[in-house]
Amino acid sequence: MPSPQKTVIVGAGPVGSLAALYAAQRGHDVEVYELRPDLRNPGIIPLNFTKSINLAVSERGINAMRLAGHPTLLETVMDGTIPMRGRMVHGKGPTGALYEHSQDYDVKGRAIYAIDRSGLNSRLLDVLDCMPNVKLFFNHKLTGADFRSCRAWFEAKDTAATPNGRPGEIEIGFDLMIGADGAHSAVRYHLMKFSRMDYQQEYIDTLWCEFHLGPRHTGPKDGPWAKFQISPNHLHIWPGKDFMFIAIPSEDGAFTCTLFLPSKQFGELEGNPSSLPAFFDRHFPGVTDLIPSESLISSFQENPHLPLISLKCRPYHHGSSGVIIGDAAHAMVPFYGQGMNAGMEDVRILFSILDKHAEVYGNDPDEEPATRATSMSALQRSLALAEYSTVRAPDAHAINSLALQNYVEMRSSVLSKRYRLRKFFEECLSVYFPDFGWQTKYARVSFSNEGYAAIVQQSEHQGQILMEGFLALLASPVVIISAYYLHKYRRFIFSAAINSCTWH
Ligand code: FAD
Repeated sequence: MPSPQKTVIVGAGPVGSLAALYAAQRGHDVEVYELRPDLRNPGIIPLNFTKSINLAVSERGINAMRLAGHPTLLETVMDGTIPMRGRMVHGKGPTGALYEHSQDYDVKGRAIYAIDRSGLNSRLLDVLDCMPNVKLFFNHKLTGADFRSCRAWFEAKDTAATPNGRPGEIEIGFDLMIGADGAHSAVRYHLMKFSRMDYQQEYIDTLWCEFHLGPRHTGPKDGPWAKFQISPNHLHIWPGKDFMFIAIPSEDGAFTCTLFLPSKQFGELEGNPSSLPAFFDRHFPGVTDLIPSESLISSFQENPHLPLISLKCRPYHHGSSGVIIGDAAHAMVPFYGQGMNAGMEDVRILFSILDKHAEVYGNDPDEEPATRATSMSALQRSLALAEYSTVRAPDAHAINSLALQNYVEMRSSVLSKRYRLRKFFEECLSVYFPDFGWQTKYARVSFSNEGYAAIVQQSEHQGQILMEGFLALLASPVVIISAYYLHKYRRFIFSAAINSCTWH
């Protein structure tokens, strides 16, 4: 039996931690190096976030955890989640009355789940702590990597890790380095010196800042909403055409809220923070009834105002020795709720390809997967990594673009009748003609494991069929007569169709 493969993971965020688990389950000697202190220690806040960032986890992330081969991981992670079955769109009607209406994500009732990012990350680290073949090194920053000689250098703030007990640089060797060190990845930077990597990044003209909507202190003590000021089973949106405010529930009854706003307007509010409550009243009606003005102003002043980056690159690997995954490979804007989900899916796909090559190239097929992958040769691994880059790049690029497009959908299309009518037709087709395999794009992205690029193609195809069907109907004489009556009674018919589909 050859000695186990040494796999070094850089970055112990959700994606790196899951990759470490997959590698450990295959018998690799795993070392995880993380820039920051252990986030399970009190007072440690993940990079770029406040204490309580909540994310939406959906099928792709869940499936990657399901297939990690750990008996209780998924159960313990999902334990702390809250199902969100749709968007709750908030606004003010023509009479000035506040309204909220729910748009379910899925006609079949499937939901995405609000999860505490730190909780998820901590559970993954707890699992890794219990594995004899995993070593975790916190306070270690990757400073250099040579993917030809398979050596890497870390600046160690953890004095126990350095030979002389003082902070300094350490050098290590590896067979495979997996870079899961986020959007500003050092692994990617060093990989670029060895691979002919195409790279493109874009900062969109929007900043984000977090706010806190506290639990309910008065009102009914029982019932599903007892702790919450607004529905816990929705992702709440206050669309503002060019900007928006959203709220995601937490287990304790609070909501993590995020303001997305063009940098110019952020600048104006920074110059005059006391105008924030009036700004909210004008654009996000009802929020100041839920979050006191003082809290709005202090969150705006104390929490960071952060940029949003979208990046694409390819290939993701060099030879047999290095590969990047998660935000390091494809950081995206957060508007499809897919960044972490896609990163976790990277892990599932990467290891399924590694497994396939270990199987194909000369190992005993009766051996457990845990020992199969460890005995891969460098050649087998390089073929697997090349296949991973080829397979994954089109999907990663597709979800990056979809995430950018979804910003327009969230902040303005959710209010458009055309958008809601297409959703209505597509959902009717998916329910009444299931054999056609018709589904909305959102359902395919969030509730399936289909490739993102195939979803984009399928959605364009569906859109074309709907348009052709609509034009054919227009051309028929019956339709011309019906159109007359439709036009005459349009208000009544149109609002009945919309109401039956999305309003609750
Ligand atoms: P990260 O979480 O960035 O982790 C990288 C780790 O690497 C960090 O711990 C960092 O300290 C470490 N590191 C960095 N440099 C080094 C170094 N040189 N040496 C060693 N370690 C290093 N995604 C979803 O799926 N659903 C959502 O609802 C969602 N909402 C979001 C909302 C907002 C406002 C934002 C900004 C993002 C959101 N995302 C969401 C995206 C999600 O947060 C990221 O996609 C996810 O965190 C990526 O995980 P990662 O492990 O690849 O990278």
